[in-house]
Amino acid sequence: MTVLPLFKAVTRPLLDYALPPRCAACGTVVAEPGTLCAACWSSIDFLGDPMCEICGRELPGTMGIGGQCGACLATPPPYERARAVMRYGAVARGMAHRLKYGRRLSLAAVMAGHIARLLPEGDHEGALIVPVPLHRWRIWSRGFNQAALIARHLSRKTGLPVELDLLRRVKNTPPLHALGARDRARIVRGAFALAPGARDRLAGRTIILVDDIWTTGATVTACARLLGRSSAARIEIVCWTRVSQSDD
Ligand SMILES: [Zn+2]
Ligand SMILES: [Zn+2]
Repeated sequence: MTVLPLFKAVTRPLLDYALPPRCAACGTVVAEPGTLCAACWSSIDFLGDPMCEICGRELPGTMGIGGQCGACLATPPPYERARAVMRYGAVARGMAHRLKYGRRLSLAAVMAGHIARLLPEGDHEGALIVPVPLHRWRIWSRGFNQAALIARHLSRKTGLPVELDLLRRVKNTPPLHALGARDRARIVRGAFALAPGARDRLAGRTIILVDDIWTTGATVTACARLLGRSSAARIEIVCWTRVSQSDD
């Protein structure tokens, strides 16, 4: 009867022994795979109320729930609601980079789990999940689109359908890291297009647009504008993390 445990042990993936589980953000050894170390967990800055009910920008503590920021009041954005899980910091950046450049694809599921909580249950019947697309050259060099991976996991978690090829990136924009809000908006103009037949698939639907990092919002706003000009009824944006609130 001692054969069974031994058999079980040798059939466990060898990687279990070779690689101890590491913190999803900083790489410190942790007890359970797919978790964060205590230091990373306690440093997370989850975004929450009071925030602009449209763009999700944080508002002064004196504002109640349901207020709108000055920018949205002055120029309503081409979407109805935008939310992100956490402020861009060491954990948000660490996980996004490990997914994108370290190929830790399982992190997409962890992110989708947090993003799913931004979508109140029952409010999104009939909605369609759409990831922000990458240009095909970028997909060839990286091998995957991180927003599409997150969107697929979000679809599994919410039961809502996902359309991976409805939006297309037709212009290969240069990396936007060093650019300000105005330059980003200019560069992404004309970068996206709808797939043939997209109008019919969008008609009257609520679209949940998914991206990993909201920097100035230029990319997701360009996508939302395109979807809104088509036949979508309502557009919501959900992101893993959001950078500064001041320059967008
Ligand atoms: Zn950590
Ligand atoms: Zn706003």
